[in-house]
Amino acid sequence: MTILVTGATGQLGALVVERLLELVPAEKVAVSVRNPEKAEHLKAKGVDVRQGDFGQPESLETAFAGADRLLLISGTDADRFSQHKNVIDAAKKAGVGFIAYTSVAKASESSLSLAEDHRNTEAYIKESGIPYALLRNNWYLENDADGIKAAAQGYPLVHAAGSAKIGWAARRDYAHAAAAVLAGEGHDNAVYELSGKPISYDELGAIVTGAAGKDVQVQGVDTDAYAEMLRGLGLPEGAAAFVAGFQTAMREGALTVDSPDLEKLLGRPQQPLAEVVAAILAN
Ligand code: NAP
Repeated sequence: MTILVTGATGQLGALVVERLLELVPAEKVAVSVRNPEKAEHLKAKGVDVRQGDFGQPESLETAFAGADRLLLISGTDADRFSQHKNVIDAAKKAGVGFIAYTSVAKASESSLSLAEDHRNTEAYIKESGIPYALLRNNWYLENDADGIKAAAQGYPLVHAAGSAKIGWAARRDYAHAAAAVLAGEGHDNAVYELSGKPISYDELGAIVTGAAGKDVQVQGVDTDAYAEMLRGLGLPEGAAAFVAGFQTAMREGALTVDSPDLEKLLGRPQQPLAEVVAAILAN
């Protein structure tokens, strides 16, 4: 059985492969990456490194040959749904027997701007007829690293999420859950809401206070003020509005998920957020 991971030179993919190598022999692991030079370290460990670009369908067909299970790590380009279609079409042509996809929390109803690509991709995977597992990842705590570091230096932890709770978890936990699905059995046509125990920004502030050893002020603002703050930090207009929109969606509950799925797949509790915050502050 060959398990193939896309995006393996990205942050999540690297952690998935690292975990897979603890679960299965290296000869069962293959990766499809844009730039094989970035994956030399994996080749040295016995991983089969193949070249595949989501934007180049012919590269994907070659890259996926002989793969039994495939992890599609969602892309980052503007046209990512059409890129994901390329991946799914190529997986079908290559006879891939199972596809896992990193989606987003509550993809079917999410008000997050980026959820539409995920919804479309989930639907396309289902239409393909390939058995699947939808890994609906909640928010990486690492997304908030800059705010956490600034808070530890005495700035307020600013947010526009109101009192909404967010299912933050360590990126590593999402990666380990994905590896468990790829290496395990009984996940055909499963939909997993992978989420840490949901907490508010006030609760996150208390965790940062504990990890930083000094009082952290949490400041709730509205979305406009949040976007203004981002512009003040140097983000261009469009990017500031895009990122501030995440906060609006959080306030609307887009990331409020109470689900045991993450810990079930991990077979252990999620990594305590205090530890993740401590690691962020140590970097
Ligand atoms: P990342 O470090 O930016 O990795 C993205 C990966 O996608 C990289 O390996 C990149 O390849 C690959 N990729 C992008 N476009 C590609 C293309 N055209 N063809 C082939 N590969 C392509 O992001 P991450 O932290 O690992 O997160 C994984 C994914 O989760 C992201 O891509 C994004 O969709 C999503 N995400 C989720 C959250 C969350 O909080 N849930 C946060 C951030 C991102 P290269 O190594 O060649 O650049």
